[in-house]
Amino acid sequence: MIFPIDKIRSDFPILHQEVYNRPLVYFDNAASTQKPIRVIAAIQRYYEHDNCNIHRGVHYLSIKATEAYEEARKEICEFINAGNKREIIFTKGTTESLNLVATTFGKRYLNPGDEVISTIMEHHSNFVPWQQVCLERGARFRVAGLSSRGELDLEELYGMINEKTRLIALTHVSNVLGTINPVKEITAIAHQRNIAVLVDGAQGVSHLPVDVRDMDCDFYCFSGHKMYAPMGIGVLYGKEKILEELPPYQMGGEMIKEVYVDHTTFNELPFKFEAGTPNVEGVVGLREAIHYLNELGMKEVASYEESLLKYAMEKLSGIENIRVFGTSKQKASLVSFLIGNIHPFDAGTIIDKMGIAVRTGHHCAMPLMDYLKIPGTLRASFAFYNTTEEIDRLIASINKVKEMFK
Ligand code: PLP
Repeated sequence: MIFPIDKIRSDFPILHQEVYNRPLVYFDNAASTQKPIRVIAAIQRYYEHDNCNIHRGVHYLSIKATEAYEEARKEICEFINAGNKREIIFTKGTTESLNLVATTFGKRYLNPGDEVISTIMEHHSNFVPWQQVCLERGARFRVAGLSSRGELDLEELYGMINEKTRLIALTHVSNVLGTINPVKEITAIAHQRNIAVLVDGAQGVSHLPVDVRDMDCDFYCFSGHKMYAPMGIGVLYGKEKILEELPPYQMGGEMIKEVYVDHTTFNELPFKFEAGTPNVEGVVGLREAIHYLNELGMKEVASYEESLLKYAMEKLSGIENIRVFGTSKQKASLVSFLIGNIHPFDAGTIIDKMGIAVRTGHHCAMPLMDYLKIPGTLRASFAFYNTTEEIDRLIASINKVKEMFK
């Protein structure tokens, strides 16, 4: 199939503008993706026709808004092939999903002496909550390292597993290295020892087809804004059995069943974890983004992005004095690199003035930066609306940076 790139680009109004008198090149997709016009339109339509607080309303608008919200849950369930709607919890985003699991899993399952394993390539959002809950519960937080290509050191990871291990928390795709972790294999090994597995899917779900039942992970978390939907909405997938056993995270609103002066009973799944008025607008936008992705086809998206990655890696390897971080065989479409000894912030500022948005810094992965002994990187992360011509402009801008720092 030929990827309909011109049509796709026309779906994203924000891409068609000039910054500093040059056409914008947006390569900061790992931080947040842009939104297709139909997602923007769905939100406008929602406010013009359906807006209302959901659940428990008997009137027309409340019923309509509730239907839109619950229909989205069903479609998200299908999108990631979850077992049923009770396993789909709406949150603010990946960070909230991860904090929810760390806090409630910690309360329910972590005792002094227990162990949680994570990896050195985690985003802070999947590192700090586990580190902190382990400190609180007297548990041990262990961190697996990497190979020289930026792949997870599986031997080290498996060597850490013992009878005290309660959970492995790891990312599906590294937001710095692009490494795609073998989460299915890791889950299979963990489950032989009755260890739960949480997968941070923030960088996975927008690039790869995701099937949580095939992966067999216990939890999978992601954010709408990294998959062409609005900010402030995200999902926690959890296996029903384990979600049933976890205590509620926040109190109030739809998570309540009955309240008495001396005790309270809680609603069933998924509502038990959805306290307060939810982000219905975000859910409506997320649903539309999923329609869009389904129409494109996640396999086609993955294969087009792979061609962009291959092109970028080849072009970068042709420039002298570039250090690329993350050369895993299984890699998503982003490149992290340094240009000689030039500080990433200085290089990023010059690249920006050429109309190209790349991210600079530690990418919320300070332990990884320490591990690699670098202050940060430049990161260009590609989406399916990017082109090889845009990558050529990035390469030209890198050459310009080199020239200026000669
Ligand atoms: N995990 C990974 C791998 C990420 O890349 C990010 C964001 O960059 C997060 C978690 C946090 O996502 P959010 O800020 O949407 O909660």
